[in-house]
Amino acid sequence: MKKGKIAYRFETPFYPGNILYVNLIKNYSCVNNCRFCGRPRNKKEIGKPNIYEKKANSFLYLSKSPSEKLVIEKIKEEIKKNDKEIAFIGLGEPLIYLDKVGRIIKKLKKKYPKIKTRIDTNGATREINENPLKVAKKLKVAGLDEIRISVNAINEKEYNKLCRPKFKDAFNNLTKFVKKCNKNGINTCVSFILNFRQGGIKSRPKKDYVKFALSLGIRKKNIILRNYLNVRQPKNENRNCKRI
Ligand code: SF4
Repeated sequence: MKKGKIAYRFETPFYPGNILYVNLIKNYSCVNNCRFCGRPRNKKEIGKPNIYEKKANSFLYLSKSPSEKLVIEKIKEEIKKNDKEIAFIGLGEPLIYLDKVGRIIKKLKKKYPKIKTRIDTNGATREINENPLKVAKKLKVAGLDEIRISVNAINEKEYNKLCRPKFKDAFNNLTKFVKKCNKNGINTCVSFILNFRQGGIKSRPKKDYVKFALSLGIRKKNIILRNYLNVRQPKNENRNCKRI
């Protein structure tokens, strides 16, 4: 099987070209199992077109998570003079590798102090679930500038139905994590998926999500609302939770 990319870019006219994306996720791993997720879930699906890899024009399957050294090497190889941001995303959940991501960010901030660092996460990993404040502080100390957290629901019942988290109390701790990141001075964005209506899910109007995000202390400009379009329809461009 060909090797997946560690540093990649999006090749569409809709997204700024001056962001370098980082993938360090083994096996497209995640701690959630969101109903709307388009990542490959089994070996048969690996290598088949999925919307995220298609948009990134990059194959992202990694049979093991790369070392800190290798990630930094790949970033050095790919970084361009006019890059403004390095974003940890990939296909799956990057904060499964919290300590490694923190160490890499620390090094990047020393080497490229003017480049913004960002993580897109579901905010539902084991460490976050155990101690949201500790994780938020760790990321702040590492030098993280921005975090985008997929919240996707306004209460636990709806979250569990839609995102099927691995850990108990995930929603409660996820919302604590949002607040802690925000309070600790990380630019914190939250995202919600709109118009997803499968498996008995009732989509809420935008205003419900906006109200909920504001109640968490998030600024209006940091609320990301994403429209779900069915992947089986030819116009689908948005089945994955990643914002780029
Ligand atoms: S949508 Fe994101 S959080 Fe949900 S299962 Fe997929 S990768 Fe994980």
